[in-house]
Amino acid sequence: MNLDMTQTIDTVQDNRKAGSERPSANGKVAESEATVVRLGQERLERVPAWGEASHSVSHVYRPTTTDQLRQLFALARQTQRTIGLRGGGNSYGDAAMNDENILLDMSRMNRILAWNPENGRIKAEPGVTLSQLWQYVLQDGWWPPIVTGTMKPTLGGCAAMNVHGKNAYQMGTIGDHILEFEIMLPSGEILTCSRDQNSDLFYAAIGGFGLLGCFTAFTLQLKRIYSGYLLVETCAQPDLAGMFTYFEEHVDKSDYIVGWIDAFAKGKRLGRGDVHKASYLPAGADPNPSQSMRLDFQNLSDTMFGFVPRSIIWLMMRPFMNNIGTRLINTAKYYAGHLGGEKKYWQTHAAFHFLLDYVPNWKRSYGKGGLIQYQPFIPKENAPEAFAAILRQCQLRGLPNYLTVFKRHKPDDFLMSHALDGYSMAMDFRVTSRNRERLVMLARELDEIVLKANGRFYFAKDSTLRPQVAAAYLGQETIDQFRALRERYDPDHILETNLWRRIFP
Ligand SMILES: Cc1cc2nc3c(=O)[nH]c(=O)nc-3n(C[C@H](O)[C@H](O)[C@H](O)COP(=O)(O)OP(=O)(O)OC[C@H]3O[C@@H](n4cnc5c(N)ncnc54)[C@H](O)[C@@H]3O)c2cc1C
Repeated sequence: MNLDMTQTIDTVQDNRKAGSERPSANGKVAESEATVVRLGQERLERVPAWGEASHSVSHVYRPTTTDQLRQLFALARQTQRTIGLRGGGNSYGDAAMNDENILLDMSRMNRILAWNPENGRIKAEPGVTLSQLWQYVLQDGWWPPIVTGTMKPTLGGCAAMNVHGKNAYQMGTIGDHILEFEIMLPSGEILTCSRDQNSDLFYAAIGGFGLLGCFTAFTLQLKRIYSGYLLVETCAQPDLAGMFTYFEEHVDKSDYIVGWIDAFAKGKRLGRGDVHKASYLPAGADPNPSQSMRLDFQNLSDTMFGFVPRSIIWLMMRPFMNNIGTRLINTAKYYAGHLGGEKKYWQTHAAFHFLLDYVPNWKRSYGKGGLIQYQPFIPKENAPEAFAAILRQCQLRGLPNYLTVFKRHKPDDFLMSHALDGYSMAMDFRVTSRNRERLVMLARELDEIVLKANGRFYFAKDSTLRPQVAAAYLGQETIDQFRALRERYDPDHILETNLWRRIFP
């Protein structure tokens, strides 16, 4: 269990043993101890989960070319270590961690390889971040079709988790906009994959959490825009039913919708919160698009209210990161939205999408134990009852989450998908030494509610999922299909992560 540090240390020892004695998948016993090259200590680094509720220790390498990448796969064979892949390290749990083994940080392979501003097609290396991407194309009138709540993830990490944005109900996941990718298999061979070429790998490696090969390039189709602004409308919703009704009435009429829920509200107010929806401006609506699409116009300012440096805001948030403080903040936030009534304004793309990046290091306000996220996805017909049950269960256990984000989704065609025709609720929980065990027990109770409602989970956010729960929601057939692809493309099981060992032992 990733949250339990004692167990993480046990896993470390087990991994090493398994690494040096494991027979390869093709039946041959791995090279004898005598021929094994040993890795030195100089590249050992302590690598955190994004939420910092757990850490691992790995030999970290940062390749810049495909040749280096190929050599690192060879090194893994010589040293009988596994390789885990890491992009920007923005997955909340252990998806980009690989204890006591090799971790490839792909963030230095970050070149834009080709850009066509006429048709919005871009080819880029996997370490290119969403931030680099939008800043590169905006002034030509384009925007990434999918962006996450932070601009720090890399394309490799986004494709491996098949991320979604606040427009998931309309634009799907990032995989829906990838035209083609190149992937290096652990053998060193590079394959080109698209809907027509190596399509089994195309549909499995997108969302395949880095277990089938290492992406080395992507060709993406971007979205044409006519202004650096979005038209944003906000309103408060008094309860969960209001939230669902608003979403169902507005999904066809807007480009983005996202809800915030006050997880402390009880009884008749259960599920109350705010909704933000936004739409692109049509051509001609913005009188000065060349100005609003300039980078200095979009960039988030360094201060709040003109004088408070954003870099210290997390410190000011810290005293409120407890049940009493967050309850107060949530109540104030809800009533500010409620009393202010419906609002309509223009907001830059960066400010609308990357609100969380406005407060650098906000996660530090959660304290030393860090945070985990739990994000279930539930079919639309079951979501109202299941989300009400989840919110009540958290309150019953005295573990209400401090930030709850509500989104609408649609299904996609990728093998290990989290997407479905329904809703998700992303919930951030503060972790302390006193509540760790209770959080794990709560997650198990919530898993039952999600499974009963035919729901799904999301590896990018996960820290607590167990093998039997993953098997129950993915189905054994899907897992067998994924394992068969692994046997084909990585027969010696070079690619592994902590998450893989935890959920698919
Ligand atoms: C504040 C915050 C907000 C977020 N908001 C959203 C959101 O709105 N929607 C959403 O969907 N997600 C969201 N996320 C989650 C985040 O987008 C995903 O975890 C994403 O995968 C992170 O990308 P990364 O580059 O940091 O990858 P990492 O976290 O480093 O790695 C993610 C996975 O990608 C694999 N990987 C990395 N590089 C490669 C490669 N070159 N080839 C193959 N596999 C690779 C890793 O092995 C790992 O399994 C959010 C995260 C944070 C911290």
